[in-house]
Amino acid sequence: MTFKWLLFAFIIKLTNGLVQVPKLKLNDGHEMPAIALGTWLGFSSNGPKSNEVEQAVRWALDAGYTHIDTAWIYKIEDQVGRGLKGVPRENVFVTSKLWNTFHAKEAVVPALRESLRSLQLDYVDLYLIHWPLGEFANSSYDSTDYLETWQGMIEAKKLGLTKSIGLSNFNQKMIERIIENGLEKPAALQVELNLNLQQPELVAFCKSQDIAVMAYTPFGSLFYSKAAPDAPPPRVDDPALVKISEKYNKTVPQIVLRYLVELGVVPLPKSLTKSRIEENINIFDFQLTEDEKKLLKTFDKGYRVIPQYKWQDHPYYPFEKKVNE
Ligand code: NDP
Repeated sequence: MTFKWLLFAFIIKLTNGLVQVPKLKLNDGHEMPAIALGTWLGFSSNGPKSNEVEQAVRWALDAGYTHIDTAWIYKIEDQVGRGLKGVPRENVFVTSKLWNTFHAKEAVVPALRESLRSLQLDYVDLYLIHWPLGEFANSSYDSTDYLETWQGMIEAKKLGLTKSIGLSNFNQKMIERIIENGLEKPAALQVELNLNLQQPELVAFCKSQDIAVMAYTPFGSLFYSKAAPDAPPPRVDDPALVKISEKYNKTVPQIVLRYLVELGVVPLPKSLTKSRIEENINIFDFQLTEDEKKLLKTFDKGYRVIPQYKWQDHPYYPFEKKVNE
């Protein structure tokens, strides 16, 4: 460990165990904390319990998180709002997302106002278009052009309802189309990014455009309980990962999150468990070597946990389609 990192670890101890999270400068001048608590309960959830996310948000704030990632579709924005009660507004960065059923330009501001009511906030720090594709309430396709939706996002920013605007699940061509049309450049892109899906070209493109990248599903298929049968390795007990984790006296999930931070992306680990919430943020007092990063790169297989093939016939489906054998 270098002197710089030892000093950093010492400073963290001095601040009462509260982890100090670095910040990334966004292209619009605002700053985003380098890790966030994810709040999606997953496909298998039977619906949110009344206060589980509220509690997780409180534990996260106590551990030093200053960034919460949420969305209208998660149906827990009210819990996030209650969890944030009492925290000075400027001390926390809140990201939320516009759902597919609000893609008409004039639907964006009312949708954000609804999220803000649930969150009990006057503004969010970052508002993202959740997916490039629109749907109607009956799940049929709404082919509203995302350029129109983006104009609604620009309007929401002008009204002060969000400090920054960005995209989620857009591919490079889609982002280029927004920029080529002379519209405001997105400040951030949120995409799936984990050991099995490292997306180096997309990350390099965003870097070249000064667009911050946020990594959702950061653990990918690391845990046996979540991995599909066809998911490539590694799992959490992979010997190569365990060896690195032992070297730094960290856990394998911490090594994975640290790797993402070193790729320059903002991981959004979700947990409802106090000890894991604390574990996941405790990654800013060590640094991986080039050889370790090289090894971690070899797990990149372009494998998606969330391809959402059910939308693959939509004109704005962003990913490679599944080919029927
Ligand atoms: P994650 O990769 O964050 O994995 C979450 C799972 O990992 C949970 O089962 C959690 O369990 C478990 N876990 C968390 N930390 C640990 C640990 N240290 N050790 C062992 N197990 C752990 O998956 P998500 O898909 O939830 O992605 C994270 C966030 O990204 C979401 O919550 C959401 O905010 C965002 N997201 C955005 C999407 C988009 O379209 N923009 C799509 C998907 C996610 P437990 O809770 O029981 O502790």
